[in-house]
Amino acid sequence: MARTAKSAAAPTLIKAIAIATAGIVIVKTGDFIKILYNTFSEGGEGMTTITAKIQIYVTEHQEESLKITSRAYQKACNWLSEKVFSSKNVNQAQLNNLFYKELRDTFGLKSQMAQSVMKTVIASYKSAQSNGHDWSLIHYKRPSYDLVWNRDYSLNERLFSLNTLDGRIKLPYEKKGMYDYFDGTWKFGTAKLVRKFDKWFLHIPMTKEIPQLNIQDVNNVVGVDLGINFLATSYDSKGKTTFFNGRKVKHKRGQFKAVRKSLQQRQTTSSRKRIRAIGQRENRYVLDVNHQVTKALVERYPKGTLFVLEDLTGVRQATERIHVKNRYVSVSWAFYQFRQLLEYKAQLYGHKVIVVSPKDTSQTCPKCGHVAKRNRNKKTHTFMCVNCSYQSNDDRIGAMNLYRKGIAYISDTVTVEV
Ligand SMILES: [Zn+2]
Repeated sequence: MARTAKSAAAPTLIKAIAIATAGIVIVKTGDFIKILYNTFSEGGEGMTTITAKIQIYVTEHQEESLKITSRAYQKACNWLSEKVFSSKNVNQAQLNNLFYKELRDTFGLKSQMAQSVMKTVIASYKSAQSNGHDWSLIHYKRPSYDLVWNRDYSLNERLFSLNTLDGRIKLPYEKKGMYDYFDGTWKFGTAKLVRKFDKWFLHIPMTKEIPQLNIQDVNNVVGVDLGINFLATSYDSKGKTTFFNGRKVKHKRGQFKAVRKSLQQRQTTSSRKRIRAIGQRENRYVLDVNHQVTKALVERYPKGTLFVLEDLTGVRQATERIHVKNRYVSVSWAFYQFRQLLEYKAQLYGHKVIVVSPKDTSQTCPKCGHVAKRNRNKKTHTFMCVNCSYQSNDDRIGAMNLYRKGIAYISDTVTVEV
């Protein structure tokens, strides 16, 4: 019986990971439908760069301007891309001499826009090369437009303004999540105007210098266990446990799943469309929940907190985990997203995040250290140590053991440095 259950669970997990991998790629290329939040990416030493992806709102007339401008930009990029491809030349000064005038005349571009086209195309070829790709023609599939801060665009608390082929236009945008970035400490970089699914988005890299928390300066350790009944359980240096209830999330995801299942049986074009739409709604829902929980965590603890998460990137190999299909972590992209969000928020709040091996996290007694599978009863979500009889909820045990691993990490690190 148990074996059947295991082999039935495994394909579900692998499927989830397949979707997850796709999900991660999507995060990186900024291919979301509607993102009003930010994603985290690593900058240089002490530099944090966040890419804000905000929707902008246009009138019909403005939309026409944006379409004309971004299409001209796209066509110019494709035109120049062919020149670069056949000449194998990525030198900006030389390309400028050869093609600048023709580029402007052919596509009706203003000087700044022609310069941006050159930069965009050169950057694409250089990044393809540095990623080890063969020399091949790069094609720009979607209308887009790269905008240099303070020259081609500006953004304030109220409006987004940009240069188009018929002059400067000002547009309202989705401000949710953007308020914190106008305090003068953030630098805005070259933004990308993108049109997707009949909507307009602006991707803006925003950079801030933030001092990193050193391990020696950690004054609080918090183990964070991700589960399903309790979405996240934290255990801190004061011995306090906090449960972030996930029952509602579980219920909601169950609903999404049920709808999807009934649609899958129909196999029509419209049902497939709806399945996709539900998937997107679910992704947004998970993103929203992850935002709320990570925000609550970074705000709850004092500056200088070390958060300890399980490293579940090797979840496929972790046989202990694979059949625990009920866990939040079985949807590994959701976990990965949680980790990314916690990492960037922690940095902003003067905290730090580490990930540790998930080995024995759920089977170790946090009181006496005894490791046994029998310590844990998955059905009742309880833990009772077969050695010392210590009892607790199993999510809490996970958080306590992660806390212990965090403490061990600090003492190891300090020992090495002495
Ligand atoms: Zn024990």
